[in-house]
Amino acid sequence: KKLKEMAKGVEGVTLEFGEEAAHVGVHESGCHGFCEMGPLVRIEPWNYLYIKVKEEDCEEIFNTTIVKGKPVERLMYHQDEMIYKEQENIPFYAKQTRLVLKNCGQINAEDIEEYIAAGGYEALEKALFEMSPNDIVNEITKANLRGRGGGGFQTGYKWKQVASQPEKIRYVVCNGDEGDPGAFMDRSVMEGDPHKMLEGMAIAAYAVGAQEGYIYVRAEYPLAIKRLKIAIEQAEQRGLLGDNILGSGFNFRIHINRGAGAFVCGEGSALTASIEGERGMPRTKPPRTVEQGLFAKPTVLNNVETYANVSMIITNGAKWYQGIGTESSPGTKAFAITGSVNNTGLIEVPMGTTLREIVYDIGGGVKNGAEFKAVQIGGPSGGCLVSNNLDVKLDFDSLKKLGAMIGSGGLVVMDEDTCMVEVARFFMNFTQNESCGKCVPCREGTKRMLEILERIVSGNGTLEDLDLLEELGEAITATALCGLGKSAALPVLSTLKNFREEYVEHVVDKR
Ligand code: SF4
Repeated sequence: KKLKEMAKGVEGVTLEFGEEAAHVGVHESGCHGFCEMGPLVRIEPWNYLYIKVKEEDCEEIFNTTIVKGKPVERLMYHQDEMIYKEQENIPFYAKQTRLVLKNCGQINAEDIEEYIAAGGYEALEKALFEMSPNDIVNEITKANLRGRGGGGFQTGYKWKQVASQPEKIRYVVCNGDEGDPGAFMDRSVMEGDPHKMLEGMAIAAYAVGAQEGYIYVRAEYPLAIKRLKIAIEQAEQRGLLGDNILGSGFNFRIHINRGAGAFVCGEGSALTASIEGERGMPRTKPPRTVEQGLFAKPTVLNNVETYANVSMIITNGAKWYQGIGTESSPGTKAFAITGSVNNTGLIEVPMGTTLREIVYDIGGGVKNGAEFKAVQIGGPSGGCLVSNNLDVKLDFDSLKKLGAMIGSGGLVVMDEDTCMVEVARFFMNFTQNESCGKCVPCREGTKRMLEILERIVSGNGTLEDLDLLEELGEAITATALCGLGKSAALPVLSTLKNFREEYVEHVVDKR
């Protein structure tokens, strides 16, 4: 704000610095991802990144960089006696492949012209005028774009199923109800580059023959809601959403629905029920969402990050996309890396990047030089990866083999001092609170598991409790109605498998 005020006098003026010229203007952007070092100021055209900027630094930034075009080195990232001037060279960014997050922190999310200048809406134009709906479905299928919301289901296959339904009224829905503790990837896209997601939704709608779309956003994301509203309005004014898009005859309107803070509404049928004004509770399947989803009509339901991948695939082709990541999990994945790691933040890497590269090369290692102990991946529905798994490739199939899943992409790093029983209790407390109560295994089972964990943590547990936890966990996983219940026991089961001795210590210590 202070920089903006200071620049008012010169805003819109082009200044000359020797050979170079720069146009002066101060813009607010979305998240740069380097949370640990915020607040961040990026200076273009030199791509200088100033970290941990305080109000009192603004005068120096203004007088030295904005007026004279010179860097302020003390505000730049330092590591091993090196000063990193350009953002792209900082190790945190250098090891990433930012495709979905490319515009986040680079463009003004409230100005559609900046998105268009960065190549935005070219894919929609190509889709409408050079491709048939069938071509689009085939391209997304060939690219093997897998849903970034957790399950890794093939997006093209989902779209094909919706497109082939006899019912002609169809919907496109975006799941922006990012409820996992420690996850903020979708938030960053909605706040920093909302048009990328809207463009993906519009292409999906054209591909499956839908005319209405809904975005279900967490009510806790007010800035995302504000920017999405602005983005939809600007896109409609530019003829990129609404009736007769770009004169093609194709109509597509997008509505925003605010969630009310229920984690279970991230589940497809609970989410559509919530949009319909019903209580957000999962229902039994079939029918599946692709057959009878929103308002009982065929529905494409994908999350924010999945839609944000679509325009790149349409522009560059499926072959290009398959060249990134692994054969069975092409493309990139955004992760929110938090916990006991030096560089917390939002990152994007090719699928198949190892946990070691993420924690040590990008994350800068464990805080205070402590030993790495484990990572909770995918929030309460994910699983726990330990030091033996540091060289495992993070992709859908490799993690499945380990009994974990990417989930939405939260990575909570834990060091040697973390009590894993306490971690398991934390996540069980979360899922127990969020259980909608519809089915007995989850409603009662998670409560009993939480009671046992609390007993163990308070020093009143027994060795039999450990067997009981396993038995209950397996029963809930096998019988719960929806994904929340099916995965509720995962943090307990995986910590019991990898850190049983810690559970035993809690039980034995009290004797
Ligand atoms: Fe509700 Fe849990 Fe059953 Fe899902 S598993 S329907 S959240 S009670």
